[in-house]
Amino acid sequence: MATSPDEQTARAELRAWLAEWWDPDRPLAEWRRLLVESGWAAPTWPADCYGRGLPEAFAAGLAEEMAAAGAVGAAGGSGMALATPTLLRHGPEELQGRLLRGILTGEERWCQLFSEPGNGSDLAGLTTRAVRDGDQWIVNGQKVWTTGAKTASYGMLLARTDWDAPKHRGITYFALPMHQDGVEVRPLRQMNNHASFNEVFLTDAVVPHENIVGQEGDGWAAALTTLAHERNLGANRSAPGAVPTAGRTVREAMAEDGDYLRTYSWYPQRAGRPDLLPSQARESGRADDPLVRQRLADVEIRERVARWNVRRALAARAQGQAPGPEGSLAKLTGTDIARRSSSLHAQIAGPAAMLTGPESLLGGVVAEIIVSVPAGSIAGGTDEVQHNILGERSLGLPREPSVDADIPFRDVKTNRRN
Ligand SMILES: Cc1cc2nc3c(=O)[nH]c(=O)nc-3n(C[C@H](O)[C@H](O)[C@H](O)COP(=O)(O)OP(=O)(O)OC[C@H]3O[C@@H](n4cnc5c(N)ncnc54)[C@H](O)[C@@H]3O)c2cc1C
Repeated sequence: MATSPDEQTARAELRAWLAEWWDPDRPLAEWRRLLVESGWAAPTWPADCYGRGLPEAFAAGLAEEMAAAGAVGAAGGSGMALATPTLLRHGPEELQGRLLRGILTGEERWCQLFSEPGNGSDLAGLTTRAVRDGDQWIVNGQKVWTTGAKTASYGMLLARTDWDAPKHRGITYFALPMHQDGVEVRPLRQMNNHASFNEVFLTDAVVPHENIVGQEGDGWAAALTTLAHERNLGANRSAPGAVPTAGRTVREAMAEDGDYLRTYSWYPQRAGRPDLLPSQARESGRADDPLVRQRLADVEIRERVARWNVRRALAARAQGQAPGPEGSLAKLTGTDIARRSSSLHAQIAGPAAMLTGPESLLGGVVAEIIVSVPAGSIAGGTDEVQHNILGERSLGLPREPSVDADIPFRDVKTNRRN
Protein backbone atom coordinates (compact mmCIF):
# COMPACT_ATOMS: atom_id res chain seq x y z
CA MET A 1 0.00 0.00 0.00
CA ALA A 2 1.38 3.47 -0.95
CA THR A 3 2.26 5.64 2.04
CA SER A 4 1.64 9.39 2.24
CA PRO A 5 4.55 11.86 2.47
CA ASP A 6 3.51 12.59 6.07
CA GLU A 7 3.71 8.92 6.96
CA GLN A 8 7.08 8.60 5.24
CA THR A 9 8.31 11.56 7.33
CA ALA A 10 7.03 9.95 10.54
CA ARG A 11 8.68 6.63 9.63
CA ALA A 12 11.98 8.40 8.86
CA GLU A 13 11.79 10.22 12.22
CA LEU A 14 11.26 6.94 14.04
CA ARG A 15 14.12 5.29 12.13
CA ALA A 16 16.42 8.14 13.12
CA TRP A 17 15.30 7.98 16.73
CA LEU A 18 15.84 4.20 16.85
CA ALA A 19 19.29 4.57 15.25
CA GLU A 20 20.22 6.93 18.07
CA TRP A 21 18.58 5.19 21.04
CA TRP A 22 17.89 1.49 20.41
CA ASP A 23 20.57 -0.58 22.06
CA PRO A 24 19.76 -4.30 22.41
CA ASP A 25 21.80 -4.52 25.60
CA ARG A 26 20.02 -1.77 27.50
CA PRO A 27 18.03 -2.90 30.59
CA LEU A 28 14.37 -3.32 29.62
CA ALA A 29 13.04 -0.88 32.23
CA GLU A 30 15.39 1.85 31.01
CA TRP A 31 14.50 1.19 27.34
CA ARG A 32 10.74 1.27 27.97
CA ARG A 33 11.16 4.54 29.93
CA LEU A 34 12.96 6.11 26.96
CA LEU A 35 10.34 4.76 24.56
CA VAL A 36 7.44 6.13 26.61
CA GLU A 37 9.10 9.52 27.14
CA SER A 38 9.77 9.88 23.41
CA GLY A 39 6.13 9.19 22.50
CA TRP A 40 7.15 6.30 20.21
CA ALA A 41 5.66 3.67 22.57
CA ALA A 42 2.19 4.78 21.43
CA PRO A 43 2.70 7.23 18.55
CA THR A 44 -1.00 7.44 17.65
CA TRP A 45 -2.06 8.48 21.15
CA PRO A 46 -2.50 12.21 21.90
CA ALA A 47 0.74 14.16 22.39
CA ASP A 48 -0.28 15.14 25.95
CA CYS A 49 -0.94 11.48 26.78
CA TYR A 50 2.35 9.64 26.13
CA GLY A 51 1.82 9.69 22.34
CA ARG A 52 2.73 11.85 19.34
CA GLY A 53 -0.77 12.50 18.00
CA LEU A 54 -0.08 10.71 14.70
CA PRO A 55 -2.99 9.30 12.64
CA GLU A 56 -4.11 5.73 13.36
CA ALA A 57 -3.40 5.00 9.68
CA PHE A 58 0.35 5.27 10.40
CA ALA A 59 0.31 2.62 13.15
CA ALA A 60 1.08 -0.44 10.99
CA GLY A 61 3.94 1.29 9.17
CA LEU A 62 5.50 2.53 12.41
CA ALA A 63 5.25 -0.97 13.89
CA GLU A 64 7.09 -2.23 10.80
CA GLU A 65 9.93 0.23 11.52
CA MET A 66 10.19 -1.02 15.12
CA ALA A 67 10.27 -4.64 13.90
CA ALA A 68 12.83 -3.85 11.18
CA ALA A 69 15.15 -2.38 13.83
CA GLY A 70 14.60 -5.46 16.02
CA ALA A 71 13.46 -3.11 18.82
CA VAL A 72 11.23 -4.11 21.75
CA GLY A 73 7.95 -2.17 21.74
CA ALA A 74 5.46 -1.19 24.45
CA ALA A 75 4.10 -3.99 26.66
CA GLY A 76 1.01 -5.90 25.43
CA GLY A 77 -1.77 -7.73 27.27
CA SER A 78 -5.35 -6.88 28.16
CA GLY A 79 -4.28 -3.58 29.75
CA MET A 80 -3.03 -2.45 26.37
CA ALA A 81 -5.78 -4.09 24.31
CA LEU A 82 -8.81 -3.23 26.48
CA ALA A 83 -8.04 -0.76 29.29
CA THR A 84 -6.13 1.80 27.21
CA PRO A 85 -8.79 2.38 24.52
CA THR A 86 -11.37 2.70 27.30
CA LEU A 87 -9.28 5.15 29.36
CA LEU A 88 -8.35 7.16 26.26
CA ARG A 89 -11.97 7.49 25.17
CA HIS A 90 -13.67 8.03 28.53
CA GLY A 91 -10.95 9.54 30.73
CA PRO A 92 -10.72 11.36 33.02
CA GLU A 93 -7.40 13.03 32.22
CA GLU A 94 -5.98 12.57 35.73
CA LEU A 95 -6.54 8.78 35.49
CA GLN A 96 -5.02 8.66 32.02
CA GLY A 97 -1.93 10.44 33.31
CA ARG A 98 -1.65 8.11 36.29
CA LEU A 99 -2.43 4.69 34.77
CA LEU A 100 -1.51 4.62 31.08
CA ARG A 101 2.22 4.83 31.67
CA GLY A 102 2.38 1.57 33.71
CA ILE A 103 0.48 -0.25 30.94
CA LEU A 104 2.94 0.92 28.28
CA THR A 105 6.00 -0.03 30.33
CA GLY A 106 4.49 -3.39 31.37
CA GLU A 107 4.96 -2.58 35.06
CA GLU A 108 1.22 -2.90 35.61
CA ARG A 109 -0.87 -5.75 34.18
CA TRP A 110 -4.66 -5.60 34.05
CA CYS A 111 -7.57 -8.02 34.15
CA GLN A 112 -11.23 -7.64 33.23
CA LEU A 113 -13.66 -7.90 36.18
CA PHE A 114 -16.91 -8.01 34.20
CA SER A 115 -18.54 -11.51 34.31
CA GLU A 116 -20.24 -12.78 37.46
CA PRO A 117 -21.61 -16.21 38.40
CA GLY A 118 -25.12 -15.06 37.42
CA ASN A 119 -24.25 -12.58 34.70
CA GLY A 120 -22.19 -13.19 31.58
CA SER A 121 -24.22 -12.52 28.43
CA ASP A 122 -26.63 -10.45 30.49
CA LEU A 123 -23.74 -8.36 31.77
CA ALA A 124 -25.91 -5.35 32.61
CA GLY A 125 -27.64 -7.48 35.26
CA LEU A 126 -24.48 -7.57 37.40
CA THR A 127 -24.91 -7.35 41.15
CA THR A 128 -21.44 -6.58 42.52
CA ARG A 129 -22.09 -3.55 44.71
CA ALA A 130 -19.96 -0.42 45.28
CA VAL A 131 -20.98 1.99 48.03
CA ARG A 132 -19.42 5.42 48.43
CA ASP A 133 -17.59 6.13 51.68
CA GLY A 134 -16.06 9.63 51.58
CA ASP A 135 -13.43 9.78 48.87
CA GLN A 136 -13.45 6.03 48.28
CA TRP A 137 -15.85 3.22 47.35
CA ILE A 138 -16.30 -0.09 49.18
CA VAL A 139 -16.89 -3.04 46.85
CA ASN A 140 -18.57 -6.35 47.65
CA GLY A 141 -19.43 -9.17 45.27
CA GLN A 142 -17.98 -11.93 43.11
CA LYS A 143 -16.51 -12.01 39.65
CA VAL A 144 -15.67 -15.15 37.67
CA TRP A 145 -13.77 -16.31 34.57
CA THR A 146 -11.33 -13.45 35.21
CA THR A 147 -8.38 -14.19 32.92
CA GLY A 148 -4.98 -13.21 34.31
CA ALA A 149 -6.30 -12.00 37.69
CA LYS A 150 -3.36 -13.66 39.45
CA THR A 151 -0.81 -11.39 37.80
CA ALA A 152 -2.88 -8.21 37.51
CA SER A 153 -2.20 -4.97 39.39
CA TYR A 154 -5.50 -3.43 38.26
CA GLY A 155 -8.93 -4.76 37.38
CA MET A 156 -11.42 -3.15 34.98
CA LEU A 157 -14.26 -3.43 37.46
CA LEU A 158 -17.96 -3.01 36.71
CA ALA A 159 -20.02 -2.52 39.88
CA ARG A 160 -23.56 -1.38 40.57
CA THR A 161 -23.62 1.99 42.32
CA ASP A 162 -27.28 2.93 41.88
CA TRP A 163 -29.99 0.29 42.48
CA ASP A 164 -32.84 2.68 41.66
CA ALA A 165 -31.67 3.37 38.11
CA PRO A 166 -32.53 0.96 35.24
CA LYS A 167 -30.00 -1.85 34.85
CA HIS A 168 -27.77 -0.22 32.22
CA ARG A 169 -27.66 3.16 33.99
CA GLY A 170 -26.68 2.35 37.56
CA ILE A 171 -23.27 0.82 36.78
CA THR A 172 -19.89 2.47 37.40
CA TYR A 173 -16.57 1.44 35.83
CA PHE A 174 -13.60 1.50 38.23
CA ALA A 175 -9.86 0.85 37.96
CA LEU A 176 -9.61 -1.44 41.00
CA PRO A 177 -6.20 -1.95 42.66
CA MET A 178 -5.92 -5.76 42.88
CA HIS A 179 -3.18 -5.99 45.52
CA GLN A 180 -5.24 -5.46 48.69
CA ASP A 181 -6.80 -7.56 51.44
CA GLY A 182 -10.35 -7.22 50.07
CA VAL A 183 -9.47 -8.99 46.81
CA GLU A 184 -9.13 -12.78 46.86
CA VAL A 185 -8.20 -14.56 43.63
CA ARG A 186 -8.86 -18.30 43.29
CA PRO A 187 -7.70 -20.05 40.09
CA LEU A 188 -10.14 -22.33 38.24
CA ARG A 189 -8.84 -25.51 36.60
CA GLN A 190 -10.09 -25.88 33.03
CA MET A 191 -10.75 -29.10 31.08
CA ASN A 192 -7.50 -28.53 29.14
CA ASN A 193 -5.68 -28.59 32.51
CA HIS A 194 -4.65 -24.91 32.34
CA ALA A 195 -5.79 -22.51 35.03
CA SER A 196 -5.78 -19.16 33.26
CA PHE A 197 -8.99 -17.77 34.62
CA ASN A 198 -10.09 -17.23 38.19
CA GLU A 199 -12.84 -16.53 40.64
CA VAL A 200 -12.36 -13.11 42.27
CA PHE A 201 -14.03 -12.49 45.62
CA LEU A 202 -14.43 -8.83 46.60
CA THR A 203 -15.00 -8.33 50.31
CA ASP A 204 -14.93 -4.70 51.41
CA ALA A 205 -12.39 -4.02 48.67
CA VAL A 206 -11.46 -0.34 48.45
CA VAL A 207 -11.21 1.78 45.32
CA PRO A 208 -10.49 5.53 45.36
CA HIS A 209 -13.21 7.81 43.95
CA GLU A 210 -10.71 9.23 41.46
CA ASN A 211 -10.33 5.74 39.94
CA ILE A 212 -13.73 6.00 38.24
CA VAL A 213 -13.35 5.56 34.47
CA GLY A 214 -15.70 7.99 32.69
CA GLN A 215 -18.57 9.18 34.88
CA GLU A 216 -20.19 7.73 38.00
CA GLY A 217 -23.28 5.75 36.90
CA ASP A 218 -22.22 5.83 33.24
CA GLY A 219 -20.04 2.72 33.33
CA TRP A 220 -22.09 0.97 30.65
CA ALA A 221 -20.81 3.38 27.98
CA ALA A 222 -17.20 2.66 28.99
CA ALA A 223 -17.97 -1.10 29.18
CA LEU A 224 -19.27 -1.02 25.59
CA THR A 225 -15.94 0.48 24.48
CA THR A 226 -14.01 -2.32 26.22
CA LEU A 227 -16.31 -4.97 24.74
CA ALA A 228 -16.08 -3.55 21.22
CA HIS A 229 -12.29 -3.72 21.41
CA GLU A 230 -12.45 -7.24 22.84
CA ARG A 231 -14.60 -8.44 19.93
CA ASN A 232 -12.16 -6.82 17.55
CA LEU A 233 -9.09 -8.53 18.99
CA GLY A 234 -9.36 -11.19 16.28
CA ALA A 235 -10.13 -8.65 13.59
CA ASN A 236 -7.17 -6.48 14.59
CA ARG A 237 -4.65 -9.29 14.47
CA SER A 238 -2.03 -8.37 11.91
CA ALA A 239 0.49 -10.70 10.31
CA PRO A 240 3.34 -11.39 12.72
CA GLY A 241 6.33 -9.24 11.87
CA ALA A 242 9.98 -9.93 12.59
CA VAL A 243 10.28 -10.80 16.27
CA PRO A 244 13.42 -9.46 17.93
CA THR A 245 15.48 -12.35 19.28
CA ALA A 246 18.81 -11.13 20.58
CA GLY A 247 20.15 -8.89 23.32
CA ARG A 248 19.54 -8.13 26.98
CA THR A 249 16.42 -6.00 26.39
CA VAL A 250 14.73 -8.82 24.45
CA ARG A 251 15.74 -11.44 27.02
CA GLU A 252 14.33 -9.33 29.86
CA ALA A 253 11.11 -8.67 27.91
CA MET A 254 10.65 -12.42 27.33
CA ALA A 255 11.38 -13.26 30.98
CA GLU A 256 8.99 -10.54 32.18
CA ASP A 257 6.29 -11.86 29.85
CA GLY A 258 6.91 -15.51 30.73
CA ASP A 259 4.62 -15.76 33.74
CA TYR A 260 1.99 -13.57 32.14
CA LEU A 261 2.08 -15.36 28.80
CA ARG A 262 1.75 -18.81 30.40
CA THR A 263 -1.87 -17.79 30.97
CA TYR A 264 -2.30 -17.61 27.21
CA SER A 265 -0.11 -20.56 26.11
CA TRP A 266 -3.15 -22.59 25.00
CA TYR A 267 -4.76 -19.73 23.00
CA PRO A 268 -3.27 -20.89 19.66
CA GLN A 269 -4.88 -24.32 20.27
CA ARG A 270 -8.16 -22.56 21.11
CA ALA A 271 -8.10 -21.24 17.52
CA GLY A 272 -8.06 -24.84 16.22
CA ARG A 273 -4.53 -24.78 14.69
CA PRO A 274 -5.63 -25.04 11.03
CA ASP A 275 -1.97 -24.34 10.18
CA LEU A 276 -1.09 -27.89 11.37
CA LEU A 277 -3.74 -29.68 9.28
CA PRO A 278 -1.88 -30.18 5.97
CA SER A 279 1.25 -31.62 7.61
CA GLN A 280 -0.83 -33.82 9.91
CA ALA A 281 -2.77 -35.14 6.89
CA ARG A 282 0.46 -35.89 5.01
CA GLU A 283 2.26 -37.50 7.95
CA SER A 284 -0.68 -39.73 8.82
CA GLY A 285 -1.03 -40.90 5.18
CA ARG A 286 -4.55 -39.40 4.95
CA ALA A 287 -3.67 -36.61 2.49
CA ASP A 288 -5.03 -38.65 -0.46
CA ASP A 289 -8.35 -39.40 1.21
CA PRO A 290 -10.91 -37.42 -0.88
CA LEU A 291 -13.06 -36.62 2.18
CA VAL A 292 -10.07 -35.31 4.13
CA ARG A 293 -8.92 -33.27 1.10
CA GLN A 294 -12.37 -31.74 0.71
CA ARG A 295 -12.47 -30.69 4.35
CA LEU A 296 -8.90 -29.35 4.18
CA ALA A 297 -9.89 -27.17 1.22
CA ASP A 298 -13.01 -26.02 3.07
CA VAL A 299 -10.98 -24.84 6.10
CA GLU A 300 -8.41 -23.13 3.86
CA ILE A 301 -11.13 -21.25 1.93
CA ARG A 302 -12.73 -20.04 5.16
CA GLU A 303 -9.31 -18.97 6.50
CA ARG A 304 -8.63 -16.85 3.42
CA VAL A 305 -12.02 -15.15 3.55
CA ALA A 306 -11.48 -14.48 7.28
CA ARG A 307 -8.13 -12.84 6.48
CA TRP A 308 -9.84 -10.49 3.98
CA ASN A 309 -12.26 -9.53 6.74
CA VAL A 310 -9.30 -8.77 9.03
CA ARG A 311 -7.81 -6.55 6.31
CA ARG A 312 -11.14 -4.80 5.96
CA ALA A 313 -11.12 -4.12 9.72
CA LEU A 314 -7.53 -2.86 9.60
CA ALA A 315 -8.39 -0.53 6.71
CA ALA A 316 -11.37 0.83 8.69
CA ARG A 317 -9.16 1.38 11.76
CA ALA A 318 -6.53 3.10 9.58
CA GLN A 319 -9.24 5.53 8.40
CA GLY A 320 -9.99 6.31 12.03
CA GLN A 321 -13.30 4.41 12.17
CA ALA A 322 -14.38 2.93 15.51
CA PRO A 323 -14.54 -0.89 15.84
CA GLY A 324 -17.66 -2.05 13.99
CA PRO A 325 -19.56 -5.22 13.01
CA GLU A 326 -16.45 -6.77 11.46
CA GLY A 327 -15.42 -7.57 15.07
CA SER A 328 -18.46 -9.80 15.65
CA LEU A 329 -18.00 -11.24 12.16
CA ALA A 330 -14.32 -12.00 12.80
CA LYS A 331 -15.13 -13.61 16.12
CA LEU A 332 -17.84 -15.80 14.59
CA THR A 333 -15.76 -16.88 11.58
CA GLY A 334 -12.83 -17.55 13.94
CA THR A 335 -14.82 -19.89 16.16
CA ASP A 336 -16.40 -21.60 13.12
CA ILE A 337 -12.96 -22.26 11.61
CA ALA A 338 -11.66 -23.45 14.99
CA ARG A 339 -14.48 -26.00 15.34
CA ARG A 340 -14.08 -27.28 11.76
CA SER A 341 -10.33 -27.51 12.21
CA SER A 342 -10.62 -29.34 15.54
CA SER A 343 -13.06 -31.85 14.06
CA LEU A 344 -10.74 -32.46 11.09
CA HIS A 345 -7.77 -32.95 13.43
CA ALA A 346 -9.84 -35.62 15.19
CA GLN A 347 -10.77 -37.29 11.86
CA ILE A 348 -7.14 -37.35 10.71
CA ALA A 349 -5.71 -38.60 14.01
CA GLY A 350 -8.47 -41.07 14.88
CA PRO A 351 -8.54 -42.37 18.47
CA ALA A 352 -4.92 -41.17 19.01
CA ALA A 353 -6.34 -37.62 19.12
CA MET A 354 -7.50 -38.29 22.67
CA LEU A 355 -4.03 -39.07 24.05
CA THR A 356 -2.15 -36.45 26.03
CA GLY A 357 1.45 -36.20 27.23
CA PRO A 358 4.82 -35.74 25.55
CA GLU A 359 4.70 -39.06 23.65
CA SER A 360 1.29 -38.45 22.11
CA LEU A 361 0.49 -36.71 18.79
CA LEU A 362 2.46 -33.44 18.52
CA GLY A 363 3.29 -33.75 22.21
CA GLY A 364 -0.37 -33.52 23.21
CA VAL A 365 -1.19 -30.51 21.04
CA VAL A 366 -3.93 -32.33 19.09
CA ALA A 367 -5.70 -33.35 22.31
CA GLU A 368 -5.27 -29.80 23.63
CA ILE A 369 -6.90 -28.39 20.47
CA ILE A 370 -9.95 -30.58 20.96
CA VAL A 371 -10.53 -29.54 24.60
CA SER A 372 -9.60 -25.86 24.10
CA VAL A 373 -11.68 -24.95 21.03
CA PRO A 374 -15.05 -24.68 22.85
CA ALA A 375 -13.73 -21.74 24.92
CA GLY A 376 -13.56 -19.49 21.86
CA SER A 377 -17.34 -19.63 21.37
CA ILE A 378 -17.86 -18.37 24.94
CA ALA A 379 -15.05 -15.92 25.77
CA GLY A 380 -15.57 -12.25 24.92
CA GLY A 381 -19.30 -12.78 24.23
CA THR A 382 -20.80 -16.07 23.03
CA ASP A 383 -21.52 -16.91 19.40
CA GLU A 384 -25.23 -16.43 20.06
CA VAL A 385 -24.60 -12.97 21.50
CA GLN A 386 -22.47 -12.05 18.45
CA HIS A 387 -25.40 -13.13 16.23
CA ASN A 388 -27.69 -10.87 18.25
CA ILE A 389 -25.29 -7.92 17.92
CA LEU A 390 -25.01 -8.37 14.15
CA GLY A 391 -28.77 -8.81 13.80
CA GLU A 392 -29.73 -5.80 15.87
CA ARG A 393 -26.92 -3.32 15.24
CA SER A 394 -25.84 -4.13 11.67
CA LEU A 395 -28.90 -5.62 9.99
CA GLY A 396 -31.45 -3.47 11.85
CA LEU A 397 -33.57 -6.48 12.86
CA PRO A 398 -36.04 -6.01 15.73
CA ARG A 399 -34.38 -5.96 19.13
CA GLU A 400 -34.70 -8.89 21.50
CA PRO A 401 -37.76 -8.42 23.74
CA SER A 402 -36.73 -7.14 27.15
CA VAL A 403 -38.80 -7.04 30.31
CA ASP A 404 -36.32 -5.42 32.67
CA ALA A 405 -34.40 -2.68 30.82
CA ASP A 406 -36.59 0.25 31.87
CA ILE A 407 -37.46 -0.48 35.48
CA PRO A 408 -35.36 0.32 38.56
CA PHE A 409 -32.80 -2.45 38.97
CA ARG A 410 -34.01 -2.93 42.54
CA ASP A 411 -37.26 -4.35 41.06
CA VAL A 412 -35.58 -6.67 38.54
CA LYS A 413 -36.07 -10.33 39.38
CA THR A 414 -32.64 -11.89 39.85
CA ASN A 415 -31.33 -14.80 41.87
CA ARG A 416 -28.38 -12.87 43.35
CA ARG A 417 -28.13 -9.83 45.59
CA ASN A 418 -24.72 -8.87 46.91
C1 LIG B 1 -11.55 -18.55 28.00
C2 LIG B 1 -12.46 -17.55 28.66
C3 LIG B 1 -11.93 -16.38 29.19
C4 LIG B 1 -12.77 -15.44 29.81
N1 LIG B 1 -12.20 -14.33 30.35
C5 LIG B 1 -12.98 -13.42 30.98
C6 LIG B 1 -12.40 -12.28 31.62
O1 LIG B 1 -11.18 -12.09 31.63
N2 LIG B 1 -13.21 -11.41 32.26
C7 LIG B 1 -14.57 -11.57 32.28
O2 LIG B 1 -15.24 -10.72 32.85
N3 LIG B 1 -15.15 -12.66 31.71
C8 LIG B 1 -14.39 -13.59 31.07
N4 LIG B 1 -14.96 -14.69 30.47
C9 LIG B 1 -16.41 -14.89 30.64
C10 LIG B 1 -17.21 -14.71 29.37
O3 LIG B 1 -17.28 -13.35 28.99
C11 LIG B 1 -18.61 -15.29 29.65
O4 LIG B 1 -18.43 -16.68 29.91
C12 LIG B 1 -19.53 -15.09 28.48
O5 LIG B 1 -19.88 -13.73 28.34
C13 LIG B 1 -20.83 -15.92 28.63
O6 LIG B 1 -21.43 -15.70 29.86
P1 LIG B 1 -21.87 -16.92 30.81
O7 LIG B 1 -20.69 -17.83 30.94
O8 LIG B 1 -22.47 -16.34 32.03
O9 LIG B 1 -22.96 -17.71 29.97
P2 LIG B 1 -24.52 -17.35 29.87
O10 LIG B 1 -24.65 -15.90 29.60
O11 LIG B 1 -25.23 -17.92 31.04
O12 LIG B 1 -24.93 -18.13 28.56
C14 LIG B 1 -25.34 -19.52 28.57
C15 LIG B 1 -25.84 -19.86 27.18
O13 LIG B 1 -27.02 -19.07 26.88
C16 LIG B 1 -26.85 -18.37 25.66
N5 LIG B 1 -27.48 -17.05 25.73
C17 LIG B 1 -27.42 -16.20 26.79
N6 LIG B 1 -28.11 -15.06 26.49
C18 LIG B 1 -28.59 -15.21 25.24
C19 LIG B 1 -29.36 -14.38 24.39
N7 LIG B 1 -29.76 -13.16 24.77
N8 LIG B 1 -29.69 -14.84 23.14
C20 LIG B 1 -29.26 -16.10 22.74
N9 LIG B 1 -28.53 -16.92 23.52
C21 LIG B 1 -28.19 -16.48 24.75
C22 LIG B 1 -25.34 -18.22 25.51
O14 LIG B 1 -24.97 -18.01 24.16
C23 LIG B 1 -24.83 -19.54 26.07
O15 LIG B 1 -24.89 -20.54 25.09
C24 LIG B 1 -14.16 -15.65 29.86
C25 LIG B 1 -14.71 -16.83 29.33
C26 LIG B 1 -13.87 -17.77 28.74
C27 LIG B 1 -14.48 -19.03 28.18
